[in-house]
Amino acid sequence: MTQIYNFSAGPAVLPKSVLQRAQAEMLDWHGSGMSVMEMSHRGKEFTSILAKTEADFRTLLNIPDNYKVLFLQGGAIAENAMIPLNLLGPDLAAGEADYVVTGAWSKRSVEDARAYGKINVVASSEADKFNHVPPYSSWQLNKNAAYLHICTNETINGVEFDGLPDAGDVPIVADMSSHILSRPIDVTQYGVIYGGAQKNIGPAGLCILIVREDLLGRASALTPAVFNWKTQAENQSMINTPPTYSIYIAGLVFEWLLEQGGVAAIEQKNIAKAKLLYDYIDNSDFYANNIALNNRSRMNIPFSLQHEQLNDAFLQGAEAAGLLQLKGHRIVGGMRASIYNAMPIDGVHALIAYMQAFATEHKQ
Ligand code: PMP
Repeated sequence: MTQIYNFSAGPAVLPKSVLQRAQAEMLDWHGSGMSVMEMSHRGKEFTSILAKTEADFRTLLNIPDNYKVLFLQGGAIAENAMIPLNLLGPDLAAGEADYVVTGAWSKRSVEDARAYGKINVVASSEADKFNHVPPYSSWQLNKNAAYLHICTNETINGVEFDGLPDAGDVPIVADMSSHILSRPIDVTQYGVIYGGAQKNIGPAGLCILIVREDLLGRASALTPAVFNWKTQAENQSMINTPPTYSIYIAGLVFEWLLEQGGVAAIEQKNIAKAKLLYDYIDNSDFYANNIALNNRSRMNIPFSLQHEQLNDAFLQGAEAAGLLQLKGHRIVGGMRASIYNAMPIDGVHALIAYMQAFATEHKQ
């Protein structure tokens, strides 16, 4: 069989050893006689899986004790609504929040949040087609904001934050869906961190949210119980049935990451992989990526071909070569290579070899 490399933006490639382990444990988890899918979420087997998954996640990101980790459903998109509901305060109409728009996902966050309260867009790079993060000094921050929302890696546009702004006492709420666990972060700089699992964590259906304890208890009475962070924190994310199988796979991914040496070690690999691909693109006159150098995402690398009419031929040839799901998001067009933690460097080498051959064949 041809070696396959999967460049999907999400759901995305998982470590092969994780899938093999899940396969081996599929019918009988640790001698329990049950698949994880068949276990009661409140039984001793699954509660031990959940506890280990949370403990490993805390170790990987060095999460302090005054932060809760919640395992939620509804994807990152549900949190677009739940962030204002949980943080604007009991009287939504009296609350306001600041948002920075750096790409399609943070733009969507603003649109969704506007239903719940006063949302201030304090900086945006939309006029420049989201090719950079606006300089922090230009952000018009409000001291009265209940929080400042950012998306630290824009999956569609390929824009990643380089450092963090100083928001004073206003808690920063970060959508890290597409680069969580790809690099070390200082959790104490954030009030809330959240991300859908289907990129660097595991299967879709799970959204992990880290919240500083003092931010719990501000929810509007309109907040649904399953999305009330305080209620979920008090109930070990089990106010209802959590996405048990997705949590189990996330736990296997966390064990794999720890075996790799943790987040600092995987960051070095991610830097090397991204550098390889950007260097190749920059040195070619056939491919281009126009994101500001210091905001280029290490995880999602969009690129265009010299001639758009070659896009279909590029994708067909890529698929035949075992390089899957390289089509760019419809908003941006062109190509996108997502090279998450589980993408081996050999996948990037294979992609570059194909890009080289394609360019030689089609150069005009
Ligand atoms: N935010 C970002 C940065 C994303 O990449 C995505 C999904 N690709 C979302 C939010 C939406 O996530 P979900 O589909 O899990 O709701």
